Amino acid sequence: MSEDNQEPLEEEADIVFDCPHCGKSLEIDARGAGMAIVCPDCNNSVQVPIPEESNIVAISSGPAPSLEGALAQIHSLTVSAAASQAKIERLVESLEEIRDRRAYLEKLRIENMARFDRVAGEMTVIQSAIDRIVSILQDAKAEKTAE
Ligand SMILES: [Zn+2]
Repeated sequence: MSEDNQEPLEEEADIVFDCPHCGKSLEIDARGAGMAIVCPDCNNSVQVPIPEESNIVAISSGPAPSLEGALAQIHSLTVSAAASQAKIERLVESLEEIRDRRAYLEKLRIENMARFDRVAGEMTVIQSAIDRIVSILQDAKAEKTAE
C-alpha cells in the first residue's frame, strides 16, 4: 500500500453502535461488520451492524431532502384525510337515511301483508257466505220445483 497510515480514520474504519441489550456505545473495527460479538458491558451476544455506505452515499448525493417539502406533503395529506373524513361522514349520514327509509318501507310492507291477510280472511268469509246463499237459493228453487 502506498498510504501507510498508522491509524485509519475512525469514522471510516470503525463501526459505532449501541448495544441493543444495555445501550452501551460499542466501537468495532469495520472488518467485524455482521459478526456476532459479546458485549463487554452486559455479556449479551450482539451482532455488529453492517454499515450501508452505498445507501448513505446514494442518499447524500441525491437531492437534499427538504423539511419544508415533507411538511407540505404532511399538510396536504392531512387536508385530504380531513376531506375524506368529511366525505365518510356524509356517506354515513346518507347510509343512515337509507337505513331509516328501508326500515319504514319494511314496516309498510309488514302492515300491507297483515292487511292482505285480513282481506284474504274476509274474502274467505264472503266466499263461504256466497256459497251458503247459493245453496239456499238452490234448495229454494228445488223445493219450488218439487211443489
Ligand atoms: Zn450490552
